[in-house]
Amino acid sequence: MNSDPLKNLCEVADSFYRRGYAFGSTGNISVRIENQIWITPTGKPLNGLTPEHLSCLDLEGASHNEIRPSKEFPFHLAVYRQKQEAQAIVHLHSTYSVAVSCLESFDPENPLPPLTPYYFMRVAPLAVLPYFRPGSEELAAAVGRAAPSHNCLLLRNHGIICSGANLNEAVDRAEELEQTARLHFILRGEQVRHLTPDEIKELQKVYRF
Ligand SMILES: [Zn+2]
Repeated sequence: MNSDPLKNLCEVADSFYRRGYAFGSTGNISVRIENQIWITPTGKPLNGLTPEHLSCLDLEGASHNEIRPSKEFPFHLAVYRQKQEAQAIVHLHSTYSVAVSCLESFDPENPLPPLTPYYFMRVAPLAVLPYFRPGSEELAAAVGRAAPSHNCLLLRNHGIICSGANLNEAVDRAEELEQTARLHFILRGEQVRHLTPDEIKELQKVYRF
C-alpha cells in the first residue's frame, strides 16, 4: 500500500482493472481527505491513472481542479454527506454482483445466501436499492438514505457501492461481495451447507453487524 493516499487510490484502481473487477471506463473510486473528495475521472478506464488525473470536489459538488469527475459523483457525495465515518468509496460493475442485481426475485433482506463467515464480517447487511438511472439525483438520494445503516449497497441492474473508514476497508468489502456473488452462482443447483442461524448469531455477537 502506498502511503500517499492519492497514489494509493490510483494503485487500487489499477489493480481492480487488471483483475477484471472493472472494465472499459466503468467503475469509480473516491477518498475523502479533510473536506475534499478526490474521485476518478469521467470517461477513463481505471488503469494507468496518476494523482494528476483525479478530480477534486467539495461536499457540495463544486470542482477544485480542472478534471471532470466520474458522472456517478453525486452518490459518492451523498454517502460522504450522510456518513461521517466514510472516508473511501468503491463503485464497481463487477460481473457476478451485477448478475445478482439482475435476478428477477430474491429476498431483499438477504439477497445472498449465508455461505461464509467473511461475508458477514465484511459485507452484511447488504442493502438492495431499486433501479435508478446512473448519475441521477434519484439514485444519489436513495444511496444517501441507505448509507448510514449499510456499508455495502447492491444497485438493481447496475452494480455495487462499498464504503469504508479507509480505502483498504472499502476495497475488502467490494472484493468480498463480488466473490460471494461468484460463489452463489458456482453453487447454484448444488446441495449447499449454509451457515446455521446459531453460527450467524455468534458472528453477529463478535462482529456487531
Ligand atoms: Zn455505475
